[in-house]
Amino acid sequence: MGGCFAIVVAAGRGTRLGGDVPKQYREIGGRSLLARSAGAFVTHAEIDGVRVVIHDDDLDRYHRATRRVDLLPPVSGGRTRQESVLFGLRSLRDFQPDTVLIHDAARPFVSTATISAVVAGLDEFPGAIAAVPVVDTLKRERDGAIADTVDRSALWRAQTPQGFHYEAILRAHEAAAGQDLTDDAAVAECAGLAVTLIESVDDNFKVTTDDDLDRAARMISGSMEIRTGMGFDVHRFGPGDRIWLCGVEIPHDQGLVGHSDADAGLHALTDALLGAIGAGDIGAHFPPSDEKWANAPSSIFLQHAGELVRRRGGHILNLDLTLICEAPRIRPHADAMAARVGEILSLAADRISVKATTTERLGFTGRGEGLAAQAIATVALGG
Ligand code: MG
Repeated sequence: MGGCFAIVVAAGRGTRLGGDVPKQYREIGGRSLLARSAGAFVTHAEIDGVRVVIHDDDLDRYHRATRRVDLLPPVSGGRTRQESVLFGLRSLRDFQPDTVLIHDAARPFVSTATISAVVAGLDEFPGAIAAVPVVDTLKRERDGAIADTVDRSALWRAQTPQGFHYEAILRAHEAAAGQDLTDDAAVAECAGLAVTLIESVDDNFKVTTDDDLDRAARMISGSMEIRTGMGFDVHRFGPGDRIWLCGVEIPHDQGLVGHSDADAGLHALTDALLGAIGAGDIGAHFPPSDEKWANAPSSIFLQHAGELVRRRGGHILNLDLTLICEAPRIRPHADAMAARVGEILSLAADRISVKATTTERLGFTGRGEGLAAQAIATVALGG
């Protein structure tokens, strides 16, 4: 097959940040570090496939974090980073790659240009790694005082991605198995492979501490545009024995009248999302005059709005919905509704709120003539 493949190493426990979520699964700007770092390779034109090496305990986390990233199935890591990379390399054998790039999941800001430059470096060398020249003056300490100043002119800080000719690095890793080398260039060096340095940038830093996570969040928010949109919808009560609200069927002594399933909750949410990206309203996308939407499940409309947000390079930060009626009682169904909306949009439940209120028997909702829904959506574009 040939081509260039990427391995993203995400098997570490990385608990230095505190909490019990390994750092590569921590989210910044609504996406995990892993989704960002792996995504950079998935969307790169010169990369033919991306494999993530994970810890067995993280399988659920992995699937949640990467559900919108087009990856090869993950493989299990080993006891050390080095062993995890070896397992990742072995897993690519069937593809017979020409070259492979190895990248840390905790470096979410790797740029297209850096990936391209590392790939290009492999035309001339069996190895090429991203690195930055040391700019600070370096001191060697002895007994609490400076012993001497180290010449920094030939010193670099190694980053990832680190690229290699596939067969050569696989052999080097097999030969170095059992050692605990901290990067793949060191494995290549042991095998006598020439590895060139590709000048990278500080932004491609590894998220290790809480300060790093703050810096990452600042970088994301700086390049992110926050949008909000609102939606409002009303449907009239009519004959029937159930209603649909937020994709949940609720038994009632009436139904809701409408062209589709009359799910005012999903309609308001759909309009809020469309509003946030300036994409018109639900009627423009799904005209009631079009027979094909008769009795359609409204999940189709919401899903479409979510897809439009994604196509704009955005993601949903949160949705807040208020349902307004005297009956039926909404509260017992609110959690199921939020869960269903989450399912439709692949969105975590804590980003969705479903609330209910009455209008104290005033107005059309108070008289039980109809049900109203209002929603606000917050969407992040870019970042
Ligand atoms: Mg409607």
